[in-house]
Parts: sequence; C-alpha cells; structure tokens
Amino acid sequence: MRLIFLGPPGAGKGTQASILGKNLGTLHISTGELLRQERKDKTKRGVEAQSYIDRGALVPDRVVMEIVHEQLTKPEAKKGWILDGFPRNVSQADALDELLIGVSQQSYDCVISFEVPESVLVERLKERAIKEGRTDDTPEVLRNRLQSYHEETAPLIKFYGDRKKLEIINGFMSMEAVTGALKEVVDDLKKNI
Ligand code: AMP
Repeated sequence: MRLIFLGPPGAGKGTQASILGKNLGTLHISTGELLRQERKDKTKRGVEAQSYIDRGALVPDRVVMEIVHEQLTKPEAKKGWILDGFPRNVSQADALDELLIGVSQQSYDCVISFEVPESVLVERLKERAIKEGRTDDTPEVLRNRLQSYHEETAPLIKFYGDRKKLEIINGFMSMEAVTGALKEVVDDLKKNI
C-alpha cells in the first residue's frame, strides 16, 4: 500500500500516519521529522533547511527530493509507505511521479486529505507548542505555515482530485474516530489492489 497524506499543520496526519504505518507494517516517511532530525544532526541539508523551517517556509524542493529519493529506494520501502507532509506543492508532486516511475515503475494508490477547520488547527497547534516545544509552533511562524499550506499545498487537492485518486477524511473528530475512518478507506483500497 502506497499512500500520500495531505493536510494543513495540526490536522493530525502525523499521528494517523504513525498508527497506520505500524498497523500495515509500512514505512512512515515524514519529511518534516526527517528535516528536523537533519537539523539536529547539523548535516549539510539540515543546516540549509534550518532558516526555512524556522520561519515556516517550504524548504527548497531539491533538498526535500533528495530525502524522499533516499527513503523510497530503501529496501523497506518495497513493502509500502505513507508519505506524510510530502508533496507540499505541485512541482514536488510532479517530481514524485517521475521518481516513482524511475524507482518502481509504479505509482501511489491513494491520496488522503485530512480536513479540519482553521480555528481548530490554531488551537491544536498552540497546545502542541506547549507539549512538544517545537520552535516552529510560535504564532507568527504558524501563520506562515498555514499561509504556505493554503497557497502552495492546498492546490494539490484539486491536482489529485482530477486524477480520481483522492479520499477526504474529516479530521475534526476524536483521534480514535479518525483512525476508524481511515481504516475504512484503507480496507476499501485493499479490496481494489
Ligand atoms: P511538518 O512537520 O510536516 O509540519 O514540517 C515542518 C517544516 O518542515 C515545514 O514547515 C517546512 O519548513 C519543512 N517541510 C516539511 N516537509 C516539507 C516539504 N515536503 N517541502 C518543503 N518543506 C517541507
């Protein structure tokens, strides 16, 4: 199973990707997590990404594509994967198509978009800022991240919708309820794969 999770920051896609990845035994690839790790390790890519992450802007596509390429060519990726937080714009989506043809001669099975009202996102992210201490959960950076979602990432909903590869999940429910809704979508997909 190869899945792409779309959604604004705070939609719960990271939590759900982690749960589903464990259940399916597939690789959970969070570009945000991988970038934060590289920043912590002060790798060349991490150092380059830092200023973008800190102001809530998208890291250059070249850096992100390198990371995704490494992940998708891992032996574990053969069992399937969940891309969480990638692609974030149309050019990354195009690059992913090319990458998948090159790597596996295959495509993704489904794109799942998590929808949550903006006011709920802001509240959730404020809570997360206290709990996890993420430097990019401050109000100003948050505004930039939401803006970048609306301007650059949200057009992907139409992009994948036009390809009839899109499922929408209401993310404004309890964590367990979202996990249940997601399971239904995945069970349906399994029947058709
Ligand atoms: P996330 O954990 O997915 O909210 O990502 C945190 C930050 O990492 C984002 O605000 C971006 O600066 C960067 N980032 C994560 N994924 C991508 C991506 N696919 N393209 C560009 N930047 C990304």
